[in-house]
Amino acid sequence: MSTLLVRNATVLVTMDDRRREIPRGGLWARDGWIEAVGPTEGLPQTADEILDLDGHLLLPGLINTHHHLYQTLTRAVPIAQDADLFGWLKALYPIWARLTPEDIRISTQLGLAELALSGCTTAADHLYLFPNGSRLDDEIEAAREIGIRLHASRGSMSVGESQGGLPPDQMVEEEDVILADSDRLISVFHDANPGAMTRVVVAPCSPFSVSADLMRESARLARSRRVQLHTHLAETLDEERYCLERFGKRPLDYVEDLDWSGPDVWFAHAVHITPDEVARMGGARSGVAHCPSSNMRLASGIAPVRRYLAANVRVGLGVDGSASNDSSHMLAEARQALLLARLAHAAVPSVDGTPGLLSARQALELATRGGAAVLGRDDVGSLEPGKCADFLALDLNRLEYAGAGHDPVAAAVFCSPVLAEHLYVHGRAVVKEGRLVGLELDRLVDDHNRASRRLVDGG
Ligand SMILES: [Zn+2]
Repeated sequence: MSTLLVRNATVLVTMDDRRREIPRGGLWARDGWIEAVGPTEGLPQTADEILDLDGHLLLPGLINTHHHLYQTLTRAVPIAQDADLFGWLKALYPIWARLTPEDIRISTQLGLAELALSGCTTAADHLYLFPNGSRLDDEIEAAREIGIRLHASRGSMSVGESQGGLPPDQMVEEEDVILADSDRLISVFHDANPGAMTRVVVAPCSPFSVSADLMRESARLARSRRVQLHTHLAETLDEERYCLERFGKRPLDYVEDLDWSGPDVWFAHAVHITPDEVARMGGARSGVAHCPSSNMRLASGIAPVRRYLAANVRVGLGVDGSASNDSSHMLAEARQALLLARLAHAAVPSVDGTPGLLSARQALELATRGGAAVLGRDDVGSLEPGKCADFLALDLNRLEYAGAGHDPVAAAVFCSPVLAEHLYVHGRAVVKEGRLVGLELDRLVDDHNRASRRLVDGG
């Protein structure tokens, strides 16, 4: 048994149902579970570990709902810098075809390290290509050394170019192999218990890289094993045209007809969704990983986030793969979500559809309890008794926050994104005084750069 007392935070943001913000706040946890949250003077005064957060903002750990960690190896690749989604994918597929199990391991650790330093305590990843003997196992095992929670999506591609899909034929897998491996991974790694560090998700890549059959069978498998379902949907107008031409349906109609809707389903992007479709998604309680940086970077469009919120759609934030962002900074993504929603409100009112502007607190909510809802978790996303002790602390005496002391909570979103001073997952320190615990970051960066050069140069 181990106990943790966190005390004297300038403000503690609970993100509980009442959205309480507690001045001079703290929490007390036992074995990674929060037992008390409140003003410091009302908490037990002793514990095995005491963290004093005088001068810090204390937030629930941020939750990333969409990523492709392997893409940290192919950031800012010149031939893919100025392309839209389909051109960008076609430029990068041949490079990604050279990935090895060691590349998966290195990129997982680098991407998760970057996420952790930016405040993330739970990350969903979507790995959908497995060249040269790579397996999702490589990612899951590498993630354990970083110490943040991972929802590892067993992605897949089964329709290559010769069958009318987008990926090259040599990158697709047989559908029975995909389903059998997904089933195996759930048996080996999925933990359905509260406080789980690892969960497995079934995740065919997109309408233009898998068959209708695989979508339907994936949904059947996920429901029989009680795991979540994830895919890319309605990301670009190219995809919409592809679905209309090939299936005679809009993207959402297409996947809904394949049993892809409900509280166990979340879609990455969901940019090109009509108001009627938003209402349907809300009725079904489907979820969305909103990826504002990626949507701007690839000129994909603006997701109707405020319509989603008004319609009771579950919405979280995703940094998306690091080749289309090209960073993995959760606090920066919350800021992008705020700014893009405001641009939509002014420039494209039909995308927004609601009065007023998205607030900094709403952006933080997307990044915390919104993300927890998207991933189907009720044990993280807020700081309250019975939840996991997953949190980050931001140093309010930094240059970036100078002059914003009247509202440190809003400053975390409005001001320049900073890195976490401390980050704890299940009551254990992952970042302490701005440094990752137990990780040689310089060596990891060196190894990662070497792997990236080999991959991109083809050597
Ligand atoms: Zn993606």
